[in-house]
Amino acid sequence: TEDSFKQIAALDGQVKAFLALTEEEALAKAAALDNSPKEGRGPLFGLPIGIKDNIVTKGTATTCASKMLENFVPVYDATVVEKVNEAGMVSVGKLNMDEFAMGSTTERSAFQTTHNPWNLDCVPGGSSGGSAAAVAAGEVPFSLGTDTGGSVRQPAAFCGVVGMKPTYGRVSRNGLVAFASSLDQIGPITRTVEDNALLLNAISGVDHRDSSSSQQQVPDFKAALTGDIKGLRVAVPKEYLGEGIAEDVKDKVRASLKVLESLGATIGEVTLPHSKYASPTYYAIATAEASSNLARFDGIRYGYRAEGAKNLDEIYLRSRAEGFGTEVKKRILYGTYALSADHHEDLYVKAMKVRTLISQDFASVFENYDVIVGPTSATTAYEIGGAVKDQLTLYANDILTVSVNLAGIPAISIPCGFSDGLPIGLQIIGKHFDEETLYRVAHAFE
Ligand code: GLN
Repeated sequence: TEDSFKQIAALDGQVKAFLALTEEEALAKAAALDNSPKEGRGPLFGLPIGIKDNIVTKGTATTCASKMLENFVPVYDATVVEKVNEAGMVSVGKLNMDEFAMGSTTERSAFQTTHNPWNLDCVPGGSSGGSAAAVAAGEVPFSLGTDTGGSVRQPAAFCGVVGMKPTYGRVSRNGLVAFASSLDQIGPITRTVEDNALLLNAISGVDHRDSSSSQQQVPDFKAALTGDIKGLRVAVPKEYLGEGIAEDVKDKVRASLKVLESLGATIGEVTLPHSKYASPTYYAIATAEASSNLARFDGIRYGYRAEGAKNLDEIYLRSRAEGFGTEVKKRILYGTYALSADHHEDLYVKAMKVRTLISQDFASVFENYDVIVGPTSATTAYEIGGAVKDQLTLYANDILTVSVNLAGIPAISIPCGFSDGLPIGLQIIGKHFDEETLYRVAHAFE
């Protein structure tokens, strides 16, 4: 824990991963743990962790990187926070993100832009950019991010670390400030696959406070790290190595496939025909759910309240106008439109049908294959401020991550090489509740 704070003091002035540090409490807790009985200490005992700032922490501000929640101090801990505490981990602070997790660069934070530790002129990805950058910079060995449409995997790829989006329902969402409830999952970000497996074990499991959390047995993920992938059937969707994906990224992914082959896996080309609709489908559904979830920020119950409003309507209008950033407002508008009486059949209901087709694409590939492998992101990290203007690249990036959330299946991103000094991520996608196989394959590279 002391080393963590030393590294944060040395680097975070430049990286800007943390929104808040809880140094006093963390050092006191670490000291108390040192003096606690040795029996029953688990593998994560005494290890520091950073928490994305949309996961509620009792007594420590949870802002979602929004002016709306700048002064919001929760009165309870999220289930995942209780669980990392039970595992004996020490939380060192809260990590920056795009406002309400809406974005892919962490430039949409209302407070600061996080920088990529590999190249400070570049973004760390997003929305869990703080979580990925903090791990990449060695400020913490573990962090928690959230992934609604790629927000754990894409920043993990940009920062050269390991990020897992678990199966929907594997990890309780109790205490996660909701963005799109049918897509959101909390996931671990770490430097190694083994660490990632340990942290997922610590946070998984059914929780009566989240009715969408699964009863499914949680296996010992570490036991899956055998190094043996002989006979593994790997599918490579042709859509994932097509137009819009940078040549360097394709090269490194192909090289990774060769490694898998050399370890005894067989590779086959497949197609996910509906993946071209993944991005519009995701945006219709995610914004619809967000418009409903974010209705609770009304200037009355939580967070920011505009001053000098003359009546209730004005409190609502002005608090929301002043408290939310542009991207969040834009999405609330899209979502409200997608759910409106005149348009919900054409937009929301249609998107839900396409969501089913996207899930069926995956299901039919998994009839003959164990995992799907491809890039996590079409390119390496973008320049800060330059943001990607090229729509083709943005479109391709979304195809690679959001369909996994729409289908509710798990996927992990691991580093697979560099281009111009910036890391490239390899994405391994699996069947529902088969994180074990993802860890086994990911570990085979280490
Ligand atoms: N880029 C996606 C978006 O902006 C990712 C969101 C997420 O996973 N939180 O919606």
